Amino acid sequence: MRASKMVKVGDISIGGGNPIVIQSMTNTDTRDVEKTVEQINNLVRTGCEIVRVSLPDLECAKKVKEIKERISVPLVGDIHFDYRIAIESIKNGIDKIRINPGNIRDPSKVLEIVKIAKERSVPIRVGANTGSLPKDLEHLPREQALGEAALREVKLLEKHGFNDIVISVKSSDAIETIQANRYVAKQVDYPLHVGVTEAGTIYNSLIKSSIALSTLIMDGLVDTLRISISGNPVNEVISARKLLTFLHLREGPDVVACPTCARSVFDVEKVALAIEEKIAKIDKKITVSVLGCIVNGIGEGKEADVGIAGTKGGVVLFYKGQIVGTYPYEEGINKLEEYVKELTK
Ligand code: SF4
Repeated sequence: MRASKMVKVGDISIGGGNPIVIQSMTNTDTRDVEKTVEQINNLVRTGCEIVRVSLPDLECAKKVKEIKERISVPLVGDIHFDYRIAIESIKNGIDKIRINPGNIRDPSKVLEIVKIAKERSVPIRVGANTGSLPKDLEHLPREQALGEAALREVKLLEKHGFNDIVISVKSSDAIETIQANRYVAKQVDYPLHVGVTEAGTIYNSLIKSSIALSTLIMDGLVDTLRISISGNPVNEVISARKLLTFLHLREGPDVVACPTCARSVFDVEKVALAIEEKIAKIDKKITVSVLGCIVNGIGEGKEADVGIAGTKGGVVLFYKGQIVGTYPYEEGINKLEEYVKELTK
């Protein structure tokens, strides 16, 4: 595990050996406080630990105060080009800002941001995305160009004595994301915010993000993560929690379900999806198995906390390794749901 520095974002610690922090980002208009707060609170209920909002103008930055009063999670402001938005958002209580000093251009304006960020202990995330690489680095191998672009931003902050930094290097390509993060991790010890950028809709994102994040987590390089998915950001948080659960880094639910075949006697997918939805937000380690027949159903059922397996005319129900009984299909599904409810209390 890489020994990264620790950075505090509100009451959440990133890096320094702390557990990996789950982040997501709203896709509402930040000026619409009602909708933004509603989405943030949905994200938090799902398990999001830090939320980022886009602050494209000063009006948005002014809304930060109102938003902060109604949420219980550290808030990050995403800012580009205009140093005044960064300063305004800090004055209004933002917990962290994401800027690239390089695109603010005037060093005296960067210094103004750094001064107030230091005063208020607001960390800054800097980084590079493949979508906006500096022209003069384009001749380098992509991972190196990404890494150097981010390190250049880091140096602009360090020049002003600012070290409360988180770094991100993101590509829409999973392999490039892995290589770029490894490149940066070799050179500095600031915590890394990791994710595949513009990862796409759910299938693409989940596969790309799993490749990149699992590899980098195994390398010990991930301090905080975002799984970027087009659409409802709640899916980002559900996916991030599943990833950390399946990597045995968090307690969480798992639904084991078979792909079905000619032996299946009930609609496995429908039952599994319904259970998944019911237990998605639970923090306890719970395994539910839903198998179409008894070929593998008995073994899986006995290993799960609760499970069913299809059999002639109904389903066999298991609870904590024991067969509870055999029931007609409908009754068996209802009983399974009752047991799941009991387990999640
Ligand atoms: S558990 Fe049974 S129904 Fe499901 S895929 Fe395996 S053999 Fe087919």
